[in-house]
Amino acid sequence: MAPNKKPTSVTIRSYQVGFGDCFLVSFNYGEDGKAPSRHVLIDFGSTSLPKQGGFSLESVAKDIKEQTAGKLTAVVATHRHRDHISGFGGNTGRLIADLQPDVVLQPWTEHPLAQPDATSPPAALAGAKGFVGALAAMHDVARFSLQEIAALRAPKTVKDQIAFLGEDNLANLDAVKTLMGMSGEHVYAYYGSKSGLEKVLPGVKVHVLGPPTLKQSRAIERQRDEDQDEFWHLQAKASRRAASAGKPLFPRAAQVIGSVLPVETRWFLPRVEAVRGDQLLEIVRILDMQMNNTSVILLFEVGTKKLLFPGDAQLENWMYAMKEAKEATAVRKLLSAVDVYKVGHHGSLNATPKTLWNLFRKKNADEQRKGRLQTIVSTMTGKHGSVDRGTEVPRSKLVQALKTESTFATTQSLTNRSVPCLRLEIPV
Ligand SMILES: [Zn+2]
Repeated sequence: MAPNKKPTSVTIRSYQVGFGDCFLVSFNYGEDGKAPSRHVLIDFGSTSLPKQGGFSLESVAKDIKEQTAGKLTAVVATHRHRDHISGFGGNTGRLIADLQPDVVLQPWTEHPLAQPDATSPPAALAGAKGFVGALAAMHDVARFSLQEIAALRAPKTVKDQIAFLGEDNLANLDAVKTLMGMSGEHVYAYYGSKSGLEKVLPGVKVHVLGPPTLKQSRAIERQRDEDQDEFWHLQAKASRRAASAGKPLFPRAAQVIGSVLPVETRWFLPRVEAVRGDQLLEIVRILDMQMNNTSVILLFEVGTKKLLFPGDAQLENWMYAMKEAKEATAVRKLLSAVDVYKVGHHGSLNATPKTLWNLFRKKNADEQRKGRLQTIVSTMTGKHGSVDRGTEVPRSKLVQALKTESTFATTQSLTNRSVPCLRLEIPV
């Protein structure tokens, strides 16, 4: 049977990967909406699987193989964080690579010629090496931060946060290599660029709304100037140390030992360490945000429907498409008509900026309303941020708004591996 020229429906599967993302988006071209389909895998990673229910990345990879009948049309890796790409490493990565995607889509920051060791960057990426080098240095900062907290007397909540963010930011060389080695055309996207998916998804329009390049947006660089003393120097320092002897990031800081201090000053030490813990957490948090902001933002236009997949993009990434770009008015119009929203960054507050949320005009408190906005989040509570600071992920305020004004689905409702994913059927 020859496939239709355009899809008749879309199936979205959101796998239970704990804290991470793994979305299989199937464009169904058959008359009955079943077959044949073209499958796009958007991210496959986890930093933490549910303790109960018997979930594993292995079984997710096997299910993807089964659902796609052994063939992926495309793989999208929105950004380099472990909770989005760890599944592309090891055995599960080989399973996915065997599905021979025709297109592998990543952000421009992953372009081999933008890497610090590249010798001839293309004109579009001129000046990008320093930025990409600093991104890479985050992996070193993450590693040193993990060493640093081990010896620190800071509150457990602070230590847990540093450990979590630190681990998420560690280099995932295995996954990165597997992605690089996958079959098909490799596309490195930026705001306004082609996604490479149009060719393999007939009748589907794909808009790349982020990330902006350095040329497009100076916001990233501006932030870099303002925060220079805070962390960009630190990243350079971390890289140098990583390249040398692997000494700790703050070699002198750890040399005061409680028992050698005069008794009357010992009360001071845990307080100083608590402050250091807070500062370290702040640094790691800023770095984590920087990497999130390299996320590819995709908007699929299929028939009458618009599906938005923004990875973990946060405010700075969004601002270019919504405000600074010369097409910003048209982009906002497009966003206002979104039917399905993959909630950004596992439901953190700054990944669903108010400006974006306010645009969605299909929000509605009436559950029965036809054409009501659908939202879907892949998340796990208790891993990221803290309720005290109002930074918990998913943010309760946001979840409340999602539940009230949209038809909301969360992977947290999946408690047993017999149901490995949420499934949305979207007629288009
Ligand atoms: Zn993430």
